Amino acid sequence: MHELSICQNVLAQVEQMAKCHQSSCAKRIVLRVGPLSGVVEELLRRAFDLLRPDSVVENAVLDIQTCPVVVLCPSCDKESQVPVNKLICPHCLQWQTTLVSGDELLLLQIEFLPNNLPENVNYLEKAHV
Ligand SMILES: [Zn+2]
Repeated sequence: MHELSICQNVLAQVEQMAKCHQSSCAKRIVLRVGPLSGVVEELLRRAFDLLRPDSVVENAVLDIQTCPVVVLCPSCDKESQVPVNKLICPHCLQWQTTLVSGDELLLLQIEFLPNNLPENVNYLEKAHV
């Protein structure tokens, strides 16, 4: 499964970032998946769930954002947002356009929980008793 190897890559990056931030728990992961990236969001979520147990992303929210398909026209030099199945310039109908955006697959953002959070919570609970 294509999506599983993508998720393994993402997880490896998250683990590396977690070490830098001295955290063992990611809170939120934001991916940008373009409509032309060839990635199916549903499969991506399923693959991510397979990798969750006992990992840094066990309780993380997976936030998948999409982005518009944008082409650059070599004839009129304009960038235009176009439908996924119609990559032609809407101004001059040139079909030999260059894809500017739409095939992205990016790890945009990771939020981590600090490691000492559970201790603080325990401390507060004890303080209330
Ligand atoms: Zn054009």
